[in-house]
Amino acid sequence: MKVCKFGGTSMANADTILKVIDAINGDKDRHYIVVSAPGRRTKEDIKVTDALYKCYDEYLEKGNCDESFTVIEKRFQDIKDGLKIDIDLDSELKVIKETIEKSKTKDYAASRGEYLSARLLAACIGYTFVDTQDLIKFNERGELQLDYSLDLLKSKLKNIKYAVLPGFYGSDQDGNVKTFSRGGSDITGAIVARAMDADVYENWTDVDGFLMADPRIVDDPANISFLSYKELRELSYMGAEVLHPESIFPVRSAGIPINIKNTFNPSHPGTMIVPDKKLPKDGKVITGIAGRKGLTIINIEKDMMNSEIGFGRKVLSILECEGISFEHMPSGIDTLSIVITDENLQGKLQKVITKIRESVNADNVDIHSGLSLIATVGHNMASRHGTASTLFTALADAHINIRMIDQGSSELNIIVGVDTFDYNKAINAIYHAFN
Ligand code: ASP
Repeated sequence: MKVCKFGGTSMANADTILKVIDAINGDKDRHYIVVSAPGRRTKEDIKVTDALYKCYDEYLEKGNCDESFTVIEKRFQDIKDGLKIDIDLDSELKVIKETIEKSKTKDYAASRGEYLSARLLAACIGYTFVDTQDLIKFNERGELQLDYSLDLLKSKLKNIKYAVLPGFYGSDQDGNVKTFSRGGSDITGAIVARAMDADVYENWTDVDGFLMADPRIVDDPANISFLSYKELRELSYMGAEVLHPESIFPVRSAGIPINIKNTFNPSHPGTMIVPDKKLPKDGKVITGIAGRKGLTIINIEKDMMNSEIGFGRKVLSILECEGISFEHMPSGIDTLSIVITDENLQGKLQKVITKIRESVNADNVDIHSGLSLIATVGHNMASRHGTASTLFTALADAHINIRMIDQGSSELNIIVGVDTFDYNKAINAIYHAFN
């Protein structure tokens, strides 16, 4: 049995939804379908979720969302007409608009794209619509209650063979709608796959799976056929955008593979994300390269730092106190560097530097901004010699200065920090050195 999730571009309009229906009908094992809200139809278009956030903003400003809600009405009316779906859309839209205007939350407004998407698709293909609002639960801190949600889903779906469920949202302890972060329908799909013990979780999108590098940077990069859960974590954390980084957790412990598929090229096998032991022995050293821009390094220097007990704790407690999370912390004998995203440091940099200077009596604290990180990821790197040498030679040959190096203990990746103006050049150099 398969659980499938179709993303926003797949659900964008009647034509794309016809392709979704073809995919569903193409395999009788596709029982549970999770959908996103309609996404962009063209580059200039607006995603329904963004249009719903606008409705909420208009409501906050004017007490109604008369103007922005017309966009929502038109999008769903077009889908209904295009697919000739027999559903009372007007009543649904009326309730949603009124509820937004009864000072319901921003999350409620945002969730209605997935809700309507699922309602329409279910009616169109004759599957049961199952709302996730009371099946996916969050605690008072806004964290997903996975085990509780799995139990609720299992008992709800045990007698329903074919269902369409909206992605992206569930509810809090008081039953109010609560959404995941953006792109969160991927997580819903993973939770449903785990609850129903699916053989595979198919995640349908608009690309043929993961590529070895960002195609906006490297020309025509190779496709990744197989990826381990761990490699996926590394790549998506570093910016590979195909799948929500958190969607792996519900399926990983049960060993359910995730298959990234393309709605617009369904015969392509896509990328298969599997446990380590199920990876084919293809001998490829590098699985993929991904990176992130927008980071700053804080370099702290102090003689004899290495023997000063509590030094690291003092520095980290300053970050904790300021609510800042850090990405990496390479250290030397008398130096400690902390890599932090600019987003995390916004408006706090000077204060943090002053506090560090005072609290650890540093000889010198300086900052280096405009940093990018590049992760070269590959499970075959472990215990093999020569990978680092290939990588660093490639960067040296391209005249790129490396500002930071980090290799996790699992030897799954090598992360280098380079100046952002070298970012594209570095990714190309690494890609071509291994391909
Ligand atoms: N519609 C939501 C978003 O645009 C969630 C999703 O598509 O997964 O982020």
